[in-house]
Amino acid sequence: MLVSQHAALSALAALTAAPLVKNKANLGLFWAAAVGQDVDHYLWHALKFHNPSLRDAYSFFRSRYGKAWHERGLRKEDARALHGPLPLAFAVALALADRRLAPIAAGMAFHGLLDALQERVITPATYHVARPALGTVGPPRPVERGEAERAA
Ligand SMILES: [Zn+2]
Repeated sequence: MLVSQHAALSALAALTAAPLVKNKANLGLFWAAAVGQDVDHYLWHALKFHNPSLRDAYSFFRSRYGKAWHERGLRKEDARALHGPLPLAFAVALALADRRLAPIAAGMAFHGLLDALQERVITPATYHVARPALGTVGPPRPVERGEAERAA
């Protein structure tokens, strides 16, 4: 999911929860964690390419958005140091020890939920519809199918 989508949907979630939350600063922490978790993508890009440019990192990942992992030139575990279950478990453990950290753990969990929805529901559901319109790979063309049959 794009950072802008995380920002918008996390803001919507924070605003929805606002009437139930006494300390409104917690909404800001929730939002910052829910959006900031993608900093691992930037750090990965900066370290891998020795390039601290946020613009270049954004372009790199934006050009791969909506593609299957094997088409991105990335392994799924690349650039996702904060996206696994261990960072979330660590955040939850910290939140259990200190409740002031609970909005951060909740934000990370919400981020993970949005990413899972994107990867497991939205991208598969729109794969054959959106990809040709976006000018990306899309379903195999007849020529590619013929080449695949000859290779088999
Ligand atoms: Zn993410």
